[in-house]
Amino acid sequence: MSSSQNRPAIVWFRDDLRMADHPALHEAAASGRPLICVYILDDETPALHPPGAASRWWLHGALAELRGHLEAQGGTLLTLSGSAEKLLPQLAEQTEAASVHLHHRLHERERTQDDRIRQALGRQGGEVRAHWGTVLLDPDAVRTKQGGFYKVCGSFWKALQTHAVPEPLEVPVSLTFHAVPKTILSGARLNEKDLCPQTPDWAEGFRKTWEPGEAEGQEHLEDFLKDAVAGYPRGRDRVAEEGTSRLSPYLASGAVSPRQVWAALQKHGAHTDGPRIFLSELGWREFARYTLYHLPNLPFENLSPKFSAMHWRKSASDLKAWQRGQTGVPIVDAGMRQLWQTGWMHNRARMIVGSFLTKHLLIDWKAGEAWFRDTLVDADFANNAMNWQWVAGTGIEATPFFRIFNPTRQAEKFDPDGDYIRQWVPELGRLSGKALFEPWAAGEEELRKGGVILGRTYPRPVVDLKEGRDRALQAFRSL
Ligand SMILES: Cc1cc2nc3c(=O)[nH]c(=O)nc-3n(C[C@H](O)[C@H](O)[C@H](O)COP(=O)(O)OP(=O)(O)OC[C@H]3O[C@@H](n4cnc5c(N)ncnc54)[C@H](O)[C@@H]3O)c2cc1C
Repeated sequence: MSSSQNRPAIVWFRDDLRMADHPALHEAAASGRPLICVYILDDETPALHPPGAASRWWLHGALAELRGHLEAQGGTLLTLSGSAEKLLPQLAEQTEAASVHLHHRLHERERTQDDRIRQALGRQGGEVRAHWGTVLLDPDAVRTKQGGFYKVCGSFWKALQTHAVPEPLEVPVSLTFHAVPKTILSGARLNEKDLCPQTPDWAEGFRKTWEPGEAEGQEHLEDFLKDAVAGYPRGRDRVAEEGTSRLSPYLASGAVSPRQVWAALQKHGAHTDGPRIFLSELGWREFARYTLYHLPNLPFENLSPKFSAMHWRKSASDLKAWQRGQTGVPIVDAGMRQLWQTGWMHNRARMIVGSFLTKHLLIDWKAGEAWFRDTLVDADFANNAMNWQWVAGTGIEATPFFRIFNPTRQAEKFDPDGDYIRQWVPELGRLSGKALFEPWAAGEEELRKGGVILGRTYPRPVVDLKEGRDRALQAFRSL
């Protein structure tokens, strides 16, 4: 048995893959114990929704970057694959660790798993120490006057801002590490190469678009504050422009913390329109986590119960056309192809494709949520579910179901020059004006000049927009 101060402290990295503003790492370092840093990919507990394919690609880069930072300080990152509930207590037992430091997770299934790990560690004479590190504030801290929780984002955000958000922490100055022998859990080591696609290698567009990791995340934040935040109120809706921060995969993987973004915005001056509106989007992220914490059914059931009687259509071919960006509706196809090729889609496009799926095609939002969870590099259990319920009108605070986006009007308004459609649907690139937004309504001559043959070079629409809209309204009325 090692002497009690030499017993190591484990830092369990999860959706917080960074060195700075990491309360768990900070506390473990301050304990003076040698550290073991570990990440566990848990595919054996499906109830916890393991990362999808695009998030795994991201994870590969994020783990490598984090390991680089730890190695620069003389340590490393141990990566394991398997049931966290089994592996973590085993790691603690075999290394005689005194403590495990981690950040709270939000969903009740995750919290229950953490409780079981806490008990297992306790039986072995160790302890689990948890902090809030992936949100601005403890979700129990923001309460209504009656002691309940908020169900409307605006009121929640107003209430949250009356609390003090903790200042982000620096990277701990001095870290010492405990060497984990190769023999320990040798059969459970993660083969990190398996996180990336092999054949076919569909990640080329991802590599061109993204560089995962903490350093790049901080750069994104700085560049956005310097170049784009002032124009955010307009830029955030222009689908062809880089008017948003593209911080979402960094926030989702925890390469950047919400408190770092909050603090940077306060320094920048959060009172003007751009920073204030941008911060309110961070408020939506916080509200999604808060809702997941208080309403664990968020990813699984319609929060508005009347939708349990909704007759969603089950059309595998329509769903496939939507997933592949082959619906014949250019703005929808542009969004879905941007997602497929880069693992990311502009927020306005997400709203348009979400409305099209759940209303014009009348397909259950859960099919869209699952597709996004697999294909987004920023896939986030809380944000994804809350936004799908918002778009579908089934959430607690949602756009009403009967408010149905007309994709053509949306394209005319938010992609007025058609640049977004031309970039992602190049076979329509020689069309202009209305024909680009609605090729099915264009004259034969116009299509011929643009090199478009409907049904051959580009699909006819899977649904007539008016008929789809009427069908959705009819289904809604019959609830
Ligand atoms: C159907 C649908 C599904 C979505 N799924 C996800 C998801 O899985 N993961 C995800 O991070 N976001 C999701 N969003 C929200 C939003 O589209 C993305 O956060 C945003 O497009 C990311 O780009 P950005 O970082 O440039 O955003 P910015 O406009 O620069 O916003 C900054 C940050 O605020 C947060 N944010 C912005 N908008 C929202 C929002 N509506 N809800 C919650 N947080 C928000 C994000 O963390 C984002 O990175 C979804 C939206 C819709 C309509």
